[in-house]
Amino acid sequence: MAKRDYYEVLGVDKQASEDEIKKAYRKIAIKYHPDRNPGNKEAEEKFKEAAEAYEVLHDPQKRQQYDQFGFNGPQGGFGGFGGGAGMDMNDIFSMFGDIFGGHGGFGGGFGGFGGSAQPQQYQGRDLRVQAKLTLEEAYAGCTKKFKIRKDVPCSSCHGTGCESGSQPETCPTCHGTGYTVRTVRSMFGTMQTQAACPTCGGEGHIIKNKCKACGGDGIVTGEEVVEINIPAGVDDGMVITVPGKGGAGKHNGVNGDLQVIVRVEKSENFERKDQDLYYNLVLDFSTAVLGGEVEIPTLEGKTTIKIEPGTQPGKQVRLRGKGMPAIQGYGYGKGDIIVNITVYIPKTLNKEEKELVKKFKECENFQADKATKKSLFDSIKNLFNK
Ligand SMILES: [Zn+2]
Ligand SMILES: [Zn+2]
Repeated sequence: MAKRDYYEVLGVDKQASEDEIKKAYRKIAIKYHPDRNPGNKEAEEKFKEAAEAYEVLHDPQKRQQYDQFGFNGPQGGFGGFGGGAGMDMNDIFSMFGDIFGGHGGFGGGFGGFGGSAQPQQYQGRDLRVQAKLTLEEAYAGCTKKFKIRKDVPCSSCHGTGCESGSQPETCPTCHGTGYTVRTVRSMFGTMQTQAACPTCGGEGHIIKNKCKACGGDGIVTGEEVVEINIPAGVDDGMVITVPGKGGAGKHNGVNGDLQVIVRVEKSENFERKDQDLYYNLVLDFSTAVLGGEVEIPTLEGKTTIKIEPGTQPGKQVRLRGKGMPAIQGYGYGKGDIIVNITVYIPKTLNKEEKELVKKFKECENFQADKATKKSLFDSIKNLFNK
């Protein structure tokens, strides 16, 4: 993936002040914090990407070099910052711990905001949609469009929640910190606890003159058409998280995520098991006996397989690399198509056909008991001839 411009990563312009950069980083870092997104690789990458951008942009000297030379700084780039992949989470915390107000407080924080001892931002709602795919679409990957009803920023107040011409005011209870401190005395001693400010809900400010269009929330119900790229190899029941495509947060807070639940329709040809596809082939009796060639469907058109003379029901033929691909970044290569062979035994015959089959009864090689004894005898004979 191409490296994104650091300003773009943080969503600020080139003239942004140090404070704006810090705020922008903090917003992203909270949103994609690993404690909030356990096991979400995409969120982790975003988190690292933002940390890298911040590492450069919050340092005036590095920022100036970056503005002048881009990623390839005069000394061949920015030190060990070869990209998010090279960064360790602990490095990020030890470098920028201050911005989180000390780590460890995330997620478990207060007021449902995460973080500690800082004014908080509202988190938008996470949304879920179902994407219905055919097996062919799951095989090749596809793009799906959704029209989603969700919270969007109010256009009258641009998401601030304030009637035009007015501004939010610093909360008189917490004086803008977003939290209140309570001293608790017990038999064990004195303890101080922090809690989200009850007056402002942790935001640090209050809105006295509320926008009439949104009632002061800064969000209204709207619609958005979202296009989602679904990678090749997905399976039924998988969930793809698209960060930031959920509902808008109140007062220009943090957008929620969109979770896309993948539904792969049953295929008429194949039964899927992980990356392998099972195909049931019913052979003509005569083809099973005499051998021949038959066509097999694959997800990239038809292919022909060879049937050996004397093919038995229950035999499996494996077409390597014709199964489902691994999802990029989660494995390599493709699975197989496994052909399960059964032999069709006719249920009704006309007179002529009956006569024909009756003749088989007299042939030694069509008599199961003799044929199997013979093959047993052959194998014993071979054993002694060795
Ligand atoms: Zn409004
Ligand atoms: Zn307050």
